[in-house]
Amino acid sequence: MNEKLFNEIQVLLEEQPLLKMLENEKEYILEGIYKYTLEFNGCIAQGNRKVRFIVLKNFPINVPKFYVFDYPNDMEHIYTDGSVCLATIGEMIYFLNKNASLIAFIDKFVNSFIFTLDWFEKYKTYPFGDRNHGYKGLLDYYLNDLNLTVDQYKEMVFMIYDNKYRGHSQCFCGSKKKLRNCHGNYILPIIQNENYKNMFLNEAYMILTEDGKNVNK
Ligand SMILES: [Zn+2]
Repeated sequence: MNEKLFNEIQVLLEEQPLLKMLENEKEYILEGIYKYTLEFNGCIAQGNRKVRFIVLKNFPINVPKFYVFDYPNDMEHIYTDGSVCLATIGEMIYFLNKNASLIAFIDKFVNSFIFTLDWFEKYKTYPFGDRNHGYKGLLDYYLNDLNLTVDQYKEMVFMIYDNKYRGHSQCFCGSKKKLRNCHGNYILPIIQNENYKNMFLNEAYMILTEDGKNVNK
């Protein structure tokens, strides 16, 4: 049994009395009203949302799924089944590799998403600025946060796909540093885990084939 995950879920259920847990062989399902708290511009924002978390028992080697209900249909980053695009796979893997905690994951990705959703309902704008949706938004993250060109992103994808990581070779970003001292830190956790690798490559396939159709508009 994944004891750390189980304990974290118990803590979460204590803090969130309106969440109920269901369990099957492979996953924990948490469903109900979730109350978030978040600091924004020095103020404490709070709110409630009906949500569902699906957390595979092999967490953190799988990224949790998150669903919302009763959302405005012009809100971006929500798929037609209510599942939410919280961030890119790369960003979530990078985070989980450093903080293998469900509670930390929820604090980081879910609270800011629900806050954004509440804000959008009130003001029809995005508090943290708009990001593109679909493949463009995903690609933007890789280009901006990892400081890459589209060609360098592709090179990174094929390095992961072909298992061609060599720590001593020069990084594909043009920094002239060795890979292991540069973007290697980012791609190594992806290469070392078959689940992460599959999720990353599925997303890369969507980005590189410019598949925006998966999105709710
Ligand atoms: Zn680099």
